[in-house]
Amino acid sequence: MTDCLFCKIIAGEIPSTKVFENDAVFAFRDINPQAPVHILVIPKEHIGSCADVNAVNSAAVAACFEAISEIAKQEGLDNGFRVISNCGADAGQTVPHLHFHILAGTQMGEKLL
Ligand code: AMP
Ligand code: ZN
Repeated sequence: MTDCLFCKIIAGEIPSTKVFENDAVFAFRDINPQAPVHILVIPKEHIGSCADVNAVNSAAVAACFEAISEIAKQEGLDNGFRVISNCGADAGQTVPHLHFHILAGTQMGEKLL
């Protein structure tokens, strides 16, 4: 998608701090980290959000989770991590390209909200 911030990051048109890349997935450090480790994992295929996942494109989601497992090992997240995907206005999604936040490096509470 030409006017998508994360598509531009994948294309290298906007700089990012890359932590992982393969044929299907790109991952980079969040510009405004909410935890000591805050990484965004995105499919290279443009998918708007979790609400747009379907039987045709769900392999891209599986690829993201395979990448998350790899990144957790690479980053040494042995004490655990949290994965979040905000979908739509009520969830506070600000970038309309499906992404998974990896948050780690601190003790998080049991409550999500
Ligand atoms: P969300 O609010 O779930 O849509 O998450 C979007 C995330 O993208 C936020 O945590 C932002 O800090 C992050 N973000 C926005 N622009 C950039 C950028 N250029 N590089 C890295 N992270 C970004
Ligand atoms: Zn996009």
